[in-house]
Amino acid sequence: MDMAERKAGAKKTVKIEGGPTIDSVPITYRHKIPIGKTLKYWDGLREGRIYATRCKSCGAVYYPPQSDCPYCGSSDVEWIELPREGVLETFTRVYSKPQGYEDFEPYIIAIARVGDVRVMGWLINVKDERCVKVGDEVVLGTTYIEKHNKYIITFQLKNKQC
Ligand SMILES: [Zn+2]
Repeated sequence: MDMAERKAGAKKTVKIEGGPTIDSVPITYRHKIPIGKTLKYWDGLREGRIYATRCKSCGAVYYPPQSDCPYCGSSDVEWIELPREGVLETFTRVYSKPQGYEDFEPYIIAIARVGDVRVMGWLINVKDERCVKVGDEVVLGTTYIEKHNKYIITFQLKNKQC
């Protein structure tokens, strides 16, 4: 298969029909993620701050943070704190939850434009997502998920209740 065929194949739409199904093999996948070079990011989440990195050599800003610049290869990067507000670009409520999230009520995953980057997080305190609109302003925060012993990034609508 050459590149052109692969590209054409990637555009095909797979139609899922409501027929018989079988269960996949249960998956457990866990490994240690090295965070030595991105510790500030993880510490920041604990304080409700969200950090990105900026390459001092070429100026590129990265979120999630990168300890080495994928663009110019420099390892001379600095931490910058992202603004506390952003604009909603897309969102969806997750009913078919991934492993580890089965116990959660259906939650809303969203992506917001925050400064020069896009940030993914949970849109919280929304009862009815039908009144949420792309372009709505959101306030960023973080929330501790006890089950996972982790902080997640949260968005809350800035100017309205839904
Ligand atoms: Zn760079």
